[in-house]
Amino acid sequence: MNLISFSIRTKGIHNFARRLWTVFTRFGITESRTRRALLSTIETLCQYDAAPTFFIPAVVLRRHHKLLAEISRCDAEIGIHGYVHNDYRSLSEAKQFKQTEQAISLFRSTNTPYQGFRNPYLIHDVIDLDLLAPVIRSGYEKSLALFQALTCNAYTLRPHFEGPLVRIPTSIPDDEMLFDRLRITEPEEVGDIWSKVMQRVYDFGGVYTLNLHPERAVPCKQALTKLLYYADNRPLPVWLARLQDIAQWWKERSRFRLVITPLAFERWQVHAICSPRATLLARNLTVENQPVNAWHGNNKRLHACDCIVNATLCPCIGLSTREEQVQKRSLLLQKIEQLDAPLLYFGCWPDGNRAALAITGDIDSVTIQDFFLRIFEVSQIT
Ligand SMILES: [Zn+2]
Repeated sequence: MNLISFSIRTKGIHNFARRLWTVFTRFGITESRTRRALLSTIETLCQYDAAPTFFIPAVVLRRHHKLLAEISRCDAEIGIHGYVHNDYRSLSEAKQFKQTEQAISLFRSTNTPYQGFRNPYLIHDVIDLDLLAPVIRSGYEKSLALFQALTCNAYTLRPHFEGPLVRIPTSIPDDEMLFDRLRITEPEEVGDIWSKVMQRVYDFGGVYTLNLHPERAVPCKQALTKLLYYADNRPLPVWLARLQDIAQWWKERSRFRLVITPLAFERWQVHAICSPRATLLARNLTVENQPVNAWHGNNKRLHACDCIVNATLCPCIGLSTREEQVQKRSLLLQKIEQLDAPLLYFGCWPDGNRAALAITGDIDSVTIQDFFLRIFEVSQIT
């Protein structure tokens, strides 16, 4: 499909005209503007000993592989964002497979290490739609439909496995929705909205994957600083991580096991098989001879892999993880979270973190030329 008609369909004519104008103001004919933007995000995160994840279409990487090599030397992760910048949902499975393979071979030929692909979207209702002018509201609603957004809860805000693949949810509104569709550009306000999303994710103990396009990294620097400060000042720590770190952790965590053996009436021997990064949590039970720390809500954090606990019931739940709908899984997890029975379990995040935060950005274009080349690249490949 033609990029212009696609843009008008998904963004509306008003937003498309604005978008065109911003292309000329946000990109340059050289790489320097985008380089400055990428380094701005890297520097902001560096203050927290963290690094961002960027995604780039393979054809854009081919034109700017030296810049991307420079970026990945700063510890930033580079992921695949398609072969060209097209909508995978409009492609057959065979074409998706072929284009992904083409993208992989291009990443390899430029010696760019990669691990991830871009992923599905979630919605946070922190924007009051009734307060928006109709033209802005319809732009926002078009975005939600485009992203096929899901409602957020403790389940949808977690990574999950699809076979060997780890899927990590992304939260919206991103910078593009705020700036171009909702026209919220005040750094303080943008920072407040992202902080509200962070609070929601923190309450659910999930992951907040923020998408901040490099073209808006400089005007969003202050908002990003505000979000990072907010995350850093929650009562429990928030893990600032790249998506590859999150995926690696999720695989590590999936191998953890609890062995619980009855010793006597209401007395259980617990042996946790896990890595030292595991967050072992307990509620509604007493741990004998081991120090525990207060954690979130009525949960306590245990520090030893072997301990004896006093509980009225065996403090674990056996769950089958076969195919079930998101809705069913969400409900099930909600029920478990609300249980007042004794429970021992592994927290979602390593080292006692309550939630995770990943700052990511799609490098859809580096220069003005890239932006217009997209039209040809997309039309040629489909
Ligand atoms: Zn993109």
